[in-house]
Amino acid sequence: MRRLVAEGLEQGAVGLSSGLTYTPGRYAGNAELTELCRVVASYGGYYCPHHRSYGAGALEAYAETVELARRAGCALHLAHATMNFGVNEGRAPELLALLDEALAAGADVTLDTYPYTAGCTTLVALLPGWAGEGGPEEILRRLTDEGTAERIRHDLEEGGSDGCHGVPVDWDTVEVSGVGSAALDVYVGRTVRESAALRGETPWTTARRLLVEDRLATTVLQHVGHEENVRAIMRHRVHTGGSDGILRGAKPHPRAYGTFPQYLGRYVRESGVLSLESCVAHLTGRPAARLRLPDRGLVREGYRADLVLFDPRTVAAGSTYDAPRTPPTGIPYVLVDGRFVLEDGRRTDVLAGRAVRRTPVSG
Ligand SMILES: [Zn+2]
Repeated sequence: MRRLVAEGLEQGAVGLSSGLTYTPGRYAGNAELTELCRVVASYGGYYCPHHRSYGAGALEAYAETVELARRAGCALHLAHATMNFGVNEGRAPELLALLDEALAAGADVTLDTYPYTAGCTTLVALLPGWAGEGGPEEILRRLTDEGTAERIRHDLEEGGSDGCHGVPVDWDTVEVSGVGSAALDVYVGRTVRESAALRGETPWTTARRLLVEDRLATTVLQHVGHEENVRAIMRHRVHTGGSDGILRGAKPHPRAYGTFPQYLGRYVRESGVLSLESCVAHLTGRPAARLRLPDRGLVREGYRADLVLFDPRTVAAGSTYDAPRTPPTGIPYVLVDGRFVLEDGRRTDVLAGRAVRRTPVSG
């Protein structure tokens, strides 16, 4: 694994990510992750994990990551750093205190958030880790076996499965955003509980049917965030904007199309949570610095002209939960590497983007 990580970094990767509530990432222990992070550190890359929990035990999961990075001597970026579910209401200051403590001790740590309260994942991801063992066919087999399916239901609804962040699932918060099979379109845009009520069955029966009939392809929104947490975290001095967008499905999360104008419209102009200047830094210079891009992220002579020209009085995310693919407003011009890809609000046929690779550490 160390050799594979080194190979990826040699080829231009900027770091290592991990999905610690997902199969198979969840099976990785901290000792092996620390070893891999040592390799990442030797290339000047950074570690960017999806943590072991964003619900019960979220704070412990963040602390564990900070400690892991410290031991490995590796830079750290906390991905989509949220504090979700009822258990974390109003607890953002505890995460920020943890962050400040690490920064004061000299850690190279940053974080990003998306400016919305809903999360987005797959329905199958909510199941307990043990149910994922052996891959998709094994999961489907467990779901169609009455006894095993009942154990899964118990973990999900009563115990709080690790896939659902240790919190018993509330089917009112789980909204279907996309299905693989067109025959299941009727579920899209409704919560699991709503669909269950329409069918006169329990939410678990509906969820289980969906998983089996859609062969695990269902994507969901999870309405489990807290606005005051989102606002508190986005104000931190090492925060960057991030979309964490998933484009799949008929009704994807609006963040996939709206994250950046949402920051500028809702959180700068409408609510004043961030100043315009600071927000622009969160969305440009800071992420470029985290990625160690030597010639991007600032408007400066000799830099690549990646420019977004927006009107601060009108810029807004057009996308909503109901119409998630609506383009933003108030952005008349976009240049990629000095070439117009959006001109007078219209797309040109210029394809100026290209892969950007890690800048090797000098010396
Ligand atoms: Zn994630």
